[in-house]
Amino acid sequence: MKERIVIKIGSQVLTRKDGSLNVTQMSALTDQIAELHKNNFEIILVSSGAVASGKTEIKPKTKLDSISARQLYSAVGQVKLINRYYDLFSQHNIHCGQILATKEDFATRRHYLNQRNCMKIMLENKVIPIVNENDAISVNELMFTDNDELSGLIAAMMNCRKLIILSNIDGIFNANPSDPNSQVIREIDVKKDHIEDSIQSSKSTTGRGGMTTKYNIARKAAEEGIEVIIANGNTENILIQIVKEKEKLSTRFKPASKPASGVKKWIAHSEGFAKGEIHINEGAREALLSENAVSLLPVGITEIIGNFEADDIVQVIDKNGNQIGIGKTACDSGKARETLGKTHEKPVIHYDYLYIENKTNS
Ligand code: GLU
Repeated sequence: MKERIVIKIGSQVLTRKDGSLNVTQMSALTDQIAELHKNNFEIILVSSGAVASGKTEIKPKTKLDSISARQLYSAVGQVKLINRYYDLFSQHNIHCGQILATKEDFATRRHYLNQRNCMKIMLENKVIPIVNENDAISVNELMFTDNDELSGLIAAMMNCRKLIILSNIDGIFNANPSDPNSQVIREIDVKKDHIEDSIQSSKSTTGRGGMTTKYNIARKAAEEGIEVIIANGNTENILIQIVKEKEKLSTRFKPASKPASGVKKWIAHSEGFAKGEIHINEGAREALLSENAVSLLPVGITEIIGNFEADDIVQVIDKNGNQIGIGKTACDSGKARETLGKTHEKPVIHYDYLYIENKTNS
């Protein structure tokens, strides 16, 4: 089977200081992607740069609020961006196609599967999907945190083995990157290494992302069995070097050995759509975190918060108020309240639809 890789390119890599599209850089990266494509890798490209390239294209007639400005710039800039990609990939006789995603497309299983099928068909026909957020219509709470989040969702949805996130720094540093003594952390083992507190919360100047979101997304993906590499898109031949596993400066997240199932990956990434909370006691917490395949039974539930239907996504919260997982419910909130604390009742969340963070065997 072909190895499938998601490559995310951030705005900072694709734009010059004045905000215009850096076509030289785009050309260098598309050359590398074309080489990988010809060597039988299936590539899905997640590319930012729409808003940045729209800004240099159009000057609004009146002063716009930030939402309208983003809508205008992205609508205009996305056309420019995708046209560039079209021209660059055409030089290699490669077809590319555009997918504009919104958060809603991941909220229901049906939308999710439609989107997955679309990309599957494209890949089967040797077309490189170029994905970006549909910035023109997704605003405020409907927005992804950034394209790093989107790339993690796509990598999980498409069962990719690798996710490469390119930005304008070499990886995750062990101190402030401007400190000459700081060094890139070469490997993070999600089972052992927790470096949340030491990450610099520097924000990118052109895109929305920062190192903290990159770290969180990379961690989540690696826990699901996806190898994640954060690297500098400006480094020569970076993509080829990463794929050939040649020594290059970058941060690699070692993936968990047992990949999560497709449904579980979808559930894990659906947190933003949770309709309620299920609070559990200590016994249930221990059972769920153990390496056994355990469903969430009414006997371990202490409280149900919110109103949900069967098949909705809910958070699972322990007695200290910490979320330990996410699941798709087997019944509605009324039924869950009726059976709360009782023994010999059917599971409220079946194991197959339960994603527990930090599970011993994951
Ligand atoms: N979708 C945005 C764009 O194309 C970028 C979002 C981000 O920076 O992550 O401009």
